[in-house]
Amino acid sequence: MLTPARTRATRATLLVLMSSAALLLGGCATSPTGRSQFIAVSDAQMDQLGTTAFDQMKQRDKLSRDARKLGTARCVVDALIVALPPAGQRLAWEVQVFDDANPNAFALPGGKIGVNTGMWTVAKSPDELAAVLAHELAHVLSRHAAERVSQQMAAGVALEAAQSYSGARTSPENTRMLMGALGLGAQLGVMLPFSRVHETEADVLGQRIMAEAGFDPAAAVRLWQNMMRASSGGRPPQMLSTHPDPQNRIVALQARVAELQPVAAQARASGRRPACRM
Ligand SMILES: [Zn+2]
Repeated sequence: MLTPARTRATRATLLVLMSSAALLLGGCATSPTGRSQFIAVSDAQMDQLGTTAFDQMKQRDKLSRDARKLGTARCVVDALIVALPPAGQRLAWEVQVFDDANPNAFALPGGKIGVNTGMWTVAKSPDELAAVLAHELAHVLSRHAAERVSQQMAAGVALEAAQSYSGARTSPENTRMLMGALGLGAQLGVMLPFSRVHETEADVLGQRIMAEAGFDPAAAVRLWQNMMRASSGGRPPQMLSTHPDPQNRIVALQARVAELQPVAAQARASGRRPACRM
């Protein structure tokens, strides 16, 4: 029989071995903007992780009963999905609105999207809501969570958690790490911003997706300006803690507007005319 200490040692060894095996199996992928990525976890695992986390949030957190907000969010997401590459369209997308005054939104692997009611105080039009949701979808399409989990696996901590994640069975430490990797750190009170590289990629890709869906790419600039204004009085939105450097973000988003407006015009001419209402 193994003593507890021995069990812990064995488990630790096993984890290291499993992590090394996964790292050997892991390989180089290419992100939608052409960046090379190290990913050592399968899409199926990540989709499962995202779906489980989302199910738990739906049970734990308060869902909004505001049918109008839910309708707007779904309308915007439906319009964005049309513009996604086939891999993105295959996901089982689901949108929920959470009754939470903090202007925040997220999208998880597996296509699970959450928007807080507080987002409506910052996003003043469907196009502005599309800007924030396209940014979050872009994190998913670019497999940023998988990259973060893979980095954690290199540190030898994540694999078991990723494989057996169920909230109840995982240690609080592992849960925090995984939620952080999914971009849900803010929900647990730990700020884990995506890296600057991931943020830039999500901004570039997200703004393109919204334009290809027929939304106004300039709305991304307005959205972040509103977000900054919202932070001037009182507590800054969570989104600004996990999405730093809004000033530079706005400059870069503005610089791409002229190039993306013809893309949006073309999309609208080809019938992609989102008709969502706030
Ligand atoms: Zn982001």
